[in-house]
Amino acid sequence: MRIEEIARGLSPTNKIYLADSYVRKCKSRILKVMREKGSNYYIVPDSSIFHPVGGGQPSDQGWIRGRNFEAEVRKALESNDVIVLYCKLIKGEVEEDAEQELDWERRHLIMRLHTAGHIIDRAVADLTGGAETIGAFHGPPRAHVDYKTKIEEDLLPEIERRANKLVEGREVIVREIAPEDLEKVIYGAPNLDRLPKAERYRIVEIKGVNAMPCTGTHVRNTSEVGMISITGIERIEGGTRIYYGVRP
Ligand SMILES: [Zn+2]
Repeated sequence: MRIEEIARGLSPTNKIYLADSYVRKCKSRILKVMREKGSNYYIVPDSSIFHPVGGGQPSDQGWIRGRNFEAEVRKALESNDVIVLYCKLIKGEVEEDAEQELDWERRHLIMRLHTAGHIIDRAVADLTGGAETIGAFHGPPRAHVDYKTKIEEDLLPEIERRANKLVEGREVIVREIAPEDLEKVIYGAPNLDRLPKAERYRIVEIKGVNAMPCTGTHVRNTSEVGMISITGIERIEGGTRIYYGVRP
């Protein structure tokens, strides 16, 4: 079943994760339920704490429960601003009122990895004279950031050292701005050319590191990230991929 078809005609989902990435549970109304096969269902809620796959992040996972049902949220998908949850029904039948719960351990790791990715962007930019970020995946099993330049392996310890210096106790601020304010607010942002047109932009600023348009989920303070380790390097088309991880 195509997600576009499931989402067609429904109003945009209230994306709770954009306003507050720390909300782990929320009540919601179910707007549509479609059975795929067996116990697999597509469920469309009116609001979502589940970040869909995309924007450099893997999908959140968790649970959705009503008075008489429970389902595992395997994957959140998005079409036209509508979030569709791909679920496995564990018991009962999906009801209109449902409470969502995040797999917080997984989400918090994604938040730490995403903020770490922005910090590595700055470290790499500093050490390469402003290498442009051309792609990223901030999640398990293996996070990476891609740069439009050739980075030599012997630079990795330096990138790691610099990133860990930057990671200490900085506030992370999320705000929405109008397009005409982009240039005023943004700094250290690598790839504005690829930025799609929008009425509002969500800016993620790591104080003193960089401020860029991003729809991802981040920690409030970089002290939550922990230690950043650079774990590998790979040549990719048009540049270099750097693998990284975080540990407490
Ligand atoms: Zn981001």
